[in-house]
Amino acid sequence: MLGFKERTFHGGAHPPEAKKYTEKKPIEKMPAPEQVVIPLQQHIGAPTEPLVKVGDRVKIGDRLSEPKGFVSVPVHASVSGKVVKIAEMPHPLGKKVLSIIIQNDGEDAFSEAVRPDENYMDLSPEEMRKRIQMAGIAGMGGATFPTHVKLSPPAEKPIDTLIINGAECEPYLTADHRTMVEFSEEIVAGIKIIQKILGVKRTIIAIEKNKPDAIKKMRGVTRNDSSIDVIALKVKYPQGAEKQLIKAITNREVPTGGLPMDVGCLVQNVGTTRAIYEALARGKPLYERVTTVTGPGIKEPKNLIVRIGTLFKDVIAYCGGYREDVSKLIMGGPMMGLAQHTDDVPVIKGTSGLLLLTEKYVRVADPMPCIGCNRCVDTCPMHLVPTTLAEFADFKRYVEAEKWGIMDCIECGTCTFVCPAKRHLLQSIRFGKYEINLQKRKAS
Ligand code: SF4
Ligand code: SF4
Repeated sequence: MLGFKERTFHGGAHPPEAKKYTEKKPIEKMPAPEQVVIPLQQHIGAPTEPLVKVGDRVKIGDRLSEPKGFVSVPVHASVSGKVVKIAEMPHPLGKKVLSIIIQNDGEDAFSEAVRPDENYMDLSPEEMRKRIQMAGIAGMGGATFPTHVKLSPPAEKPIDTLIINGAECEPYLTADHRTMVEFSEEIVAGIKIIQKILGVKRTIIAIEKNKPDAIKKMRGVTRNDSSIDVIALKVKYPQGAEKQLIKAITNREVPTGGLPMDVGCLVQNVGTTRAIYEALARGKPLYERVTTVTGPGIKEPKNLIVRIGTLFKDVIAYCGGYREDVSKLIMGGPMMGLAQHTDDVPVIKGTSGLLLLTEKYVRVADPMPCIGCNRCVDTCPMHLVPTTLAEFADFKRYVEAEKWGIMDCIECGTCTFVCPAKRHLLQSIRFGKYEINLQKRKAS
């Protein structure tokens, strides 16, 4: 077992952790709502096409859509009931997405396809990947990249190190923390599946030091397994970003524009690892997930298992509702999360948390001119020059922005967090990346 010493990366920041609202709260199962709105696109990649029509009756776990292509995963019914509408509906990523609306019949009837398989470890790696795809599993840390694709590295890029990401460095969020404390054995069972798929011998579970109970639990369940080590990481944001995690653990640097597989690594979130186990051992597709509902703006912060498709407003009502001075609703954490303009959007596979902030916690100061302090440069974990990138993006100088590495930005928001002039650096950089991607798509 590796030592309990601090590992970390260059740059980063120390935003207030703010985990106190929920870190000690056991995961609770939220009852299914009366209606769910299930978007057909909840992952990065090709969209899916509906397999049901209005009027159809469905059971929990029934497949609702057909993936189109390899980089695509289906969605499943999270309640039993009747399909009452298929239409474009608001989505937490800020656009309208074709969605299937199911009226819950209250019976909680399960699909015949949801059945355990005691012999799942006898499946071939190819069969395992196929089951993971058809269970609709996509990265649950927020990235939502289809998991079976990540588990299919080309032969010329073998993986020698599997990293299970339990860092959960985003302030406020505790879904992964509680999952490690309460479902540690299922995470290990998920690791065994991934080890078999990749043929990998070395696995490291990486957890920030501010979760000593999770570290203890994961060490306890892996103590007799020499293929798995548990490492305690320094508490620093963005410790859980893939490239930073790989650097901290292996001292390998993922090249510009490259992927973890380029340096023999694969990073998998703890929630996703557990979902892999549930898919293969229980035949359970991804129709619910652990989500943290937290912040000073919610009356009863909780860690919840929520059915995919549950509207934010129903989750918030289940947690006692808004506090009077609530001023901002974010899907995810304060650093990388997405501010919402409505609570009439559904929980999706990438909803790691709902954060509700009050006026006191929401910065409204107007940006001032850059004072050249260099703090954004010193803290950027990707060794970028955020102030210059933001300027290039603001003035639409995209060629120069690319030369200066704008596409390497991992959108961690550290530069914005540390800027004393309150400049909206990440906002400008995100916009620049979006425009560059758009131009490339148009050109191809
Ligand atoms: S430029 Fe990008 S990677 Fe660097 S600190 Fe800012 S958001 Fe993070
Ligand atoms: S941190 Fe803000 S003020 Fe300082 S150099 Fe960067 S953009 Fe300018």
